[in-house]
Amino acid sequence: MPNCRPCRAPHTRGGRFAVIDPATGETFDDAPDQQPDELDAVVGRAHEAWQSWRTDPAVRATALLAAADAVEAAGAGLAPLLTREQGKPLADSYAEIARTAARLRYFAEPAPGPRPIADGRPVCSEIRWRPLGPVAAIVPWNFPLQLASAKFAPALAAGNTVVLKPSPFTPLATRLLASVVSAVLPEGVLTVVTGREPLGARLASHPGIRHVTFTGSVPTGRAVAEGAAASLTRVTLELGGNDAAILLDDVEVERIAERLFWAAFRNCGQVCMAVKRVYAPARLCSSVAEALARYAKSAVVGAGLDPGTQLGPVNNAAQLARVEHFTAQALADGGRAVSGGHRLDRPGYFFAPTILADVPSDSPVVTEEQFGPVLPVLPYGSLDEAVEAANDTSYGLGGSVWGTDLDRAEAVADRLECGTVWINHHAELSLAQPFAGVKDSGVGVAGGPWGLYGNLRPFVVHRPQEV
Ligand code: NAD
Repeated sequence: MPNCRPCRAPHTRGGRFAVIDPATGETFDDAPDQQPDELDAVVGRAHEAWQSWRTDPAVRATALLAAADAVEAAGAGLAPLLTREQGKPLADSYAEIARTAARLRYFAEPAPGPRPIADGRPVCSEIRWRPLGPVAAIVPWNFPLQLASAKFAPALAAGNTVVLKPSPFTPLATRLLASVVSAVLPEGVLTVVTGREPLGARLASHPGIRHVTFTGSVPTGRAVAEGAAASLTRVTLELGGNDAAILLDDVEVERIAERLFWAAFRNCGQVCMAVKRVYAPARLCSSVAEALARYAKSAVVGAGLDPGTQLGPVNNAAQLARVEHFTAQALADGGRAVSGGHRLDRPGYFFAPTILADVPSDSPVVTEEQFGPVLPVLPYGSLDEAVEAANDTSYGLGGSVWGTDLDRAEAVADRLECGTVWINHHAELSLAQPFAGVKDSGVGVAGGPWGLYGNLRPFVVHRPQEV
């Protein structure tokens, strides 16, 4: 299997495409397969709506607060739909909706006002931040609502309008979310388009779009950047990761095992900044693998709608095939499954939570982003070796260091080449922090005020003090 990411969308029927429940592998609904002429009309309306939406920051802030309330009120309809098409446990869907509402509230602040520039010259200079215009927001299937709001909340707050394209694997909850949010916005300010490729490619390269904000895999991110280059459109790319967790020799394995396990397996491992490789001192390696395997064996795997489920299915058949392939290759390379290592014998896209030991460092499950419920535990000799191995990747999203001596852990953390590093936990993000991968993990900055400025352009006025 090549290293490119799977991108097969469900088959279509008559201008619509099927949406599959990953817990059964069966189609349960469908969504519109929108065509290029419809996209042109949507972008045109987004441009018209921008003319008034750009004018009044206070109106926008009030609308975003109303949108947050509306999203919360719609939770009971949104959550089961999200679980049905994405696979995650229902409680996680509710958490995603809560985060979506929280983000709308976070950005419900008036955009930055004019600011003088003092440089000692007898000229009065001032920066006025201006919106960009229609923004294309393209998102993946792992956190459809949360990632959509991470794009449209700052874009709308800044005074832009948004055309949002969800993954064809998860179009339905996004359509419902957008209808709930749009109900409190003027027409054309936020529009969802759904469909199979080349819809995303056309949106990314559409000449009416002023900013493409994309979350997804590295290969698609490159294609988006190429498409946007035709119109020299601004891009923000939040891409994949292969985060390493380095365990120091003073780590208390039993104390951190549960936290480390969930940092890797939440959302069935389908998290851009999940722990995807664990490096442990050679003498601790088997106890770390055993401790993690205990959680893997006891995790309740099932349909997201079943009460008590902790781990749902993998989202789609192609992703499951990728996870199976990487695991089989690791076992063929001499690795050992301390837990799992196989698909579950039941309908749907279920894979047993898998802890791997004795995997060579060049096996694809170590070098690539597996994006599933599989975690290799790798030994290291010296700390320098561990840091070198952690950094020996084209990715640079996140990383973590686990140990008892926090100063020592921080000194190691400082050496990791990534955008965010955690000590004794992983993948927890504040709405107020900048989020930016390095190397192939991204271009541009999202999150906090940086996310807002990413949707604005500086407009500078120089005015002499005398005529
Ligand atoms: P993907 O790249 O296959 O698809 C992402 C989106 O792009 C989907 O909406 C898809 O339909 C669309 N798309 C596909 N081809 C396109 C094209 N040529 N032009 C424009 N759009 C196109 O990713 P995926 O499999 O849906 O998601 C998993 C990936 O997303 C993983 O690599 C994961 O790490 C990454 N991710 C990154 C972050 C982050 O914040 N850095 C967050 C979540 C997921």
